Amino acid sequence: MSMSVQPTKLELAADGRLRITWSDERIREYSVHELREKCPCATCREQRRAPPPPPMMLPVLSAAETQPLRIAGMKPTGGYAYSIDFSDGHDTGIFTLETLRELGTEVASP
Ligand SMILES: [Zn+2]
Repeated sequence: MSMSVQPTKLELAADGRLRITWSDERIREYSVHELREKCPCATCREQRRAPPPPPMMLPVLSAAETQPLRIAGMKPTGGYAYSIDFSDGHDTGIFTLETLRELGTEVASP
């Protein structure tokens, strides 16, 4: 898989959103929750396939889940993807550049 466009700049906005500037000068912004919910790792894909809990059951949140979710780190992996380290301790998601181009919303250039 090859992508002709590459991120040229990664920033975190004050509200915790991720902003990526791409080599074709497009800028996309991503909410932390969108990225966390779309996490492509095997564990998360498995969880998304599981049936939702019965409506009368209150989901039990771990201590980490009750904290506001942030991106704790992000680093290039293999030249075509980024691994994102979330503040809930989850860091196994590898987001390909293709996935990152599909997620988020395009914003106007500053
Ligand atoms: Zn995951």
